[in-house]
Amino acid sequence: MSISYVNGRYVPHREASVHIEDRGFQFADAVYEVFALQGGRLIDEEGHLNRLERSLGELAIAQPMSRAALKLVMRQLLRVNRIAYGSLYLQISRGVAPRDFAAPQGLTPTLVMTVMRQKPFDAQAALKGARVITAPDIRWKRCDIKTVQLLAGVMCKTAAHDQGAAEAWLLDADGFVTEGSSSNAWIVTADGELVTRHTDHAILGGITRKTVMKLAEHNGLKYVERIFSLDEAKSAREAFTTSSTVMVRPVTHIDDAQIGDGTCGPFCRKVIELYGAYMKQDTST
Ligand code: PMP
Repeated sequence: MSISYVNGRYVPHREASVHIEDRGFQFADAVYEVFALQGGRLIDEEGHLNRLERSLGELAIAQPMSRAALKLVMRQLLRVNRIAYGSLYLQISRGVAPRDFAAPQGLTPTLVMTVMRQKPFDAQAALKGARVITAPDIRWKRCDIKTVQLLAGVMCKTAAHDQGAAEAWLLDADGFVTEGSSSNAWIVTADGELVTRHTDHAILGGITRKTVMKLAEHNGLKYVERIFSLDEAKSAREAFTTSSTVMVRPVTHIDDAQIGDGTCGPFCRKVIELYGAYMKQDTST
């Protein structure tokens, strides 16, 4: 049984709860972050905290405490759980108030954190690819804000799992891939350039995506941020997804189209190696 954090208290997970009029529960009026934990280190902690602060700012939700205090709570939660590998989930809602669409001012935000234990990242196991299906991107127009309003992603990911696939890649009205239901989408062109969609309001600016771009740049891999169509993706040399929880995952099939030879290609393999090595050294915490 793990220990969770709820508004200042460290409580057994099964007793961790918030009020039924919490605006996160009523309106999805809340934002979140998921930090990967490897060898006791929170990977890209500062990047996640920057994005958290941005999400809060976009919705004018108050910060429950300073960044320094938040980092102390996160560390304390890891300590009481004696956890070194897995993830830390953090959610901040606008707070509790009688149900009303209009957001009241001056609420005390709700802060909860949970941890999940997982095996250490295994670069060898990460080579195993996965299928993705595609689905229309029916989400709202501010996907850059990391809110808990995730129902479209839930529907698409569930449909993917029902069809034996790991992820759904979402398509805009013009047939371009925006991102995965809970990951960023990448392809590799015939001449070995990594491609991922540019960031704007249509996608979440993934922290793993950004780190992979940094690693590519420092290790002589070419990358470009631009839109790419489903047709281009299906005939790409390689494809993969990135996220803090799944890290780097090769895509072997998009719908019924096999990508490359249907296994992890050399570019994705390199990205997995680089990301695995990066997580061993990341000292941003
Ligand atoms: N896009 C969406 C829609 C996501 O939910 C996620 C993961 N939360 C990502 C991309 C990947 O972001 P990150 O690398 O920061 O985990």
